[in-house]
Amino acid sequence: MGVLKKTCLFEEDGDYIFIPLSRTLTADEMEKLDLAVWDAYASINPIKHREKIELPSCSPVEREGLKRSKKKTTPQNRVIARLREFGFPEHMLYAVPRKWERFGEILIIRLNEVPREYESLMANAFMEVLGATAVFADHDGIRGEFRTPELRRIAGKKSVTTHLENGIRYTFDVTGIMFSSGNIDERVHFSKIDASDETVVDMFSGIGYFTLPLAVYGRPRKIHAIEKNPQSFSYLKLNLEKNRVTNVVDPILGDNREVGPTSVADRVIMGYLPTANIFIPRALEFLRPSGGIIHFHYTCKKKERETIVNKAFRDVLHENGRVYEIMDLRVIKSYAPFIYHCVADVRVG
Ligand code: SAM
Repeated sequence: MGVLKKTCLFEEDGDYIFIPLSRTLTADEMEKLDLAVWDAYASINPIKHREKIELPSCSPVEREGLKRSKKKTTPQNRVIARLREFGFPEHMLYAVPRKWERFGEILIIRLNEVPREYESLMANAFMEVLGATAVFADHDGIRGEFRTPELRRIAGKKSVTTHLENGIRYTFDVTGIMFSSGNIDERVHFSKIDASDETVVDMFSGIGYFTLPLAVYGRPRKIHAIEKNPQSFSYLKLNLEKNRVTNVVDPILGDNREVGPTSVADRVIMGYLPTANIFIPRALEFLRPSGGIIHFHYTCKKKERETIVNKAFRDVLHENGRVYEIMDLRVIKSYAPFIYHCVADVRVG
């Protein structure tokens, strides 16, 4: 009935059990509760001579000072408890992060508020509580053309990990390659696209963020996966093997403005922030002359979601004598204050 007061404990007192309730029950509810208690009682006390025993029944009572149930412990609380055991200064406990990223046995944590001399204690507490083997501090987000993370090793030796998501194994080195946990909905979205018999060009394939779910679940004829960073490219090839899609995916090392097959694609993936718009003319070259779908990633304020896509596509497409239609717009994650990472599915004719 949703009337239990979950912040308090059941209490036993002589022949009675007190059930904490969040409000006064109606007569009907009281009757239901009576029956439920009776059923529970009967299921554990087989009664042969009903008339001879006093049946349990419920009545509402006011009772002061019910014991509070203990707060559920979160991993953060367990880290704090462990740090106390380590002798971590009490006044610094406010700096224990509430969020972190986990890739296999590796944790990536923002430790900006933690003084350097306490970082390894903090890392050890996290490793013990979360069963991890290495911790990196996320220093300065992600930089440059290759979207390289700025991490600092705090504890442990490993930096190569395998992240399992949606039945797909992504192996990569966290110190050289980003993996955006926040893009999970889009990766899952790609596992649900029916790309039967399609040819796809992934212009910024990285280690296979979108190529892998599409290749594993979407039944495409071919995916040409282009990646410029040699380190990401070598993990892309490894991931194709690990996920058994080498026959479907053709990995191509190089700059997508110079490599990759043109006039072949039914679908083009443009997963690159924040500047994918300058690559739209090249995406059109990858598409078949008859057209296809472009998955265009961009950043914007929420209310500008549509105008930004129109701005990016209108002139370029008209210049190329093409028409387009926005089929879907998805907000993926927050990117900066009031700015969101979005994806538009644009059908080009
Ligand atoms: N969308 C991805 C996700 O879900 O996590 C993140 C973007 S991914 C890291 C972008 C990739 O594009 C990087 O691996 C980068 O090296 C690659 N890249 C950047 N410019 C490129 C270019 N001109 N040609 C091919 N690959 C490029």
